[in-house]
Amino acid sequence: MTDVLVIGGGNAALCAALMAAEGGAKVQILESSPKDWRGGNSSHTRNVRCMHDAPQDVLVDAYSEEEFWQDLLKVTGGQTNEHLARLVIRSSATFRTWMHKHGVRFQPSISGALHTARTNAFFMGGGKALINAYYRSAELLGIEVKYNARVSELKLVDGCFEAARVIHTNANGETREEWIEAKTCVLACGGFESNREWLREAWGQNALGEWSADNFLIRGSRFNQGELLRFLMGQGADIIGDPTQAHMVAIDARAPLYDGGICTRLDSVSLGVVVNQAAERFYDEGEDFWPKRYAIWGRLVAQQPQQIGYSIIDSKAIGRFMPSVFEAIEANTLSELATKLELDVEKFMQTMNAFNAACVQGDFDHTILDNCHTKGLLPAKTHWARTIDIPPFYAYPLRPGVTFTYLGLKTDETTAVHFAGVPSPNLFAAGEIMAGNVLGKGYTAGVGMTIGTFFGRQAGAYAAKVALDAKASV
Ligand SMILES: Cc1cc2nc3c(=O)[nH]c(=O)nc-3n(C[C@H](O)[C@H](O)[C@H](O)COP(=O)(O)OP(=O)(O)OC[C@H]3O[C@@H](n4cnc5c(N)ncnc54)[C@H](O)[C@@H]3O)c2cc1C
Repeated sequence: MTDVLVIGGGNAALCAALMAAEGGAKVQILESSPKDWRGGNSSHTRNVRCMHDAPQDVLVDAYSEEEFWQDLLKVTGGQTNEHLARLVIRSSATFRTWMHKHGVRFQPSISGALHTARTNAFFMGGGKALINAYYRSAELLGIEVKYNARVSELKLVDGCFEAARVIHTNANGETREEWIEAKTCVLACGGFESNREWLREAWGQNALGEWSADNFLIRGSRFNQGELLRFLMGQGADIIGDPTQAHMVAIDARAPLYDGGICTRLDSVSLGVVVNQAAERFYDEGEDFWPKRYAIWGRLVAQQPQQIGYSIIDSKAIGRFMPSVFEAIEANTLSELATKLELDVEKFMQTMNAFNAACVQGDFDHTILDNCHTKGLLPAKTHWARTIDIPPFYAYPLRPGVTFTYLGLKTDETTAVHFAGVPSPNLFAAGEIMAGNVLGKGYTAGVGMTIGTFFGRQAGAYAAKVALDAKASV
């Protein structure tokens, strides 16, 4: 019988599987996607946030435990668990050595990567290379991997895992069902961000009667349907988080429904203005540095009518941000741009003229919170406010892009799933499915992989120990 059954095939799952195998356990991975799509959202990543008290290979200067903690505290507005968060942070000082052992290579931060050279280590070849390295290592350690193997429910007795119901799909789309028993199980099967029905239910209808979530795009995998999260909610597992809380960024509205990845994100917002479908501005585009604000814009656009916005810039902004993979919509005059965007031209011109007239001339510097701001305008633009008046003019349509949801299974440092406050003896959870224990809201770049790596390794180590102790006592 399998000792440790790992459900999911992304970063958290692989960290758990590798740790369990290193601990001497017989491990099996069940990944719902076909092999070509393995790795879930983890295959889209670029970096991991790490503390370090002094320069460490690709990481410059220092990034202390306290600074990392303060960053997390700020973005979550206190909706976090300090004990768990500090364990995650401390482990990030050392887990890269283990990652390196399993074939992951790092490179310094690239330009256009949200100024993260000090705080984040970038994966050479991105998340896809990390995932491939871990699968290679898994093969060498004798871990069995089944693809097209979706787990739809678990057999639990008094919170104790006994077996998983697996739906295997073959190349012709035919399905076969099987129950797989194991001594312990690690759930690392993502959030519910790919489940559009669930997003619809969570977000409900807005004041205009619109189902906002119908216009959301999913930045990553289509396979994170939250099936087991929902199943466990039905079984009375303890849950943490709010179903509408998620990492959401403004992405190019022309992106595909799933798997658009990093190249659809739009970083032009702080260099211009953003208007909604009514051709009105709705938020301070220059509130703070973009790395600290990019993750709020998905939600801001989600709150607008028809869940669409338009980032408007002029030629002065070109070359100052990483462009979207889609070409900007270009025009020689602002009114022509409004026509191309099918916005009310008169209203759009009023908004742009009011903005331009309110800009107070200052010393533009995108690397500091500069003194270019608006006066007497609501909402204000508090930094980097420069008149939008040098043609050609450009626009990018924006939609809310969901990265991952925060509703999850409540757990502790052992990663055990809890039922009415009681930890399961052999059911563990890691990654997005429990990230809400640390991320109640907000986000700071690279922390998703820090959380998944820490809890994935913890889950694998505990699951292996429980399985091997059970074996020894037979
Ligand atoms: C475009 C994009 C860029 C990102 N960039 C970064 C970054 O640079 N740094 C960072 O820290 N974070 C980043 N993130 C967030 C990061 O991807 C997640 O925090 C992290 O990968 C979560 O890992 P995970 O293993 O929990 O989930 P995933 O990697 O999504 O893995 C979940 C796995 O479970 C499988 N699965 C789902 N349901 C089932 C089921 N019922 N049965 C079997 N298998 C199932 C899926 O197929 C998938 O393989 C990014 C996300 C996206 C979408």
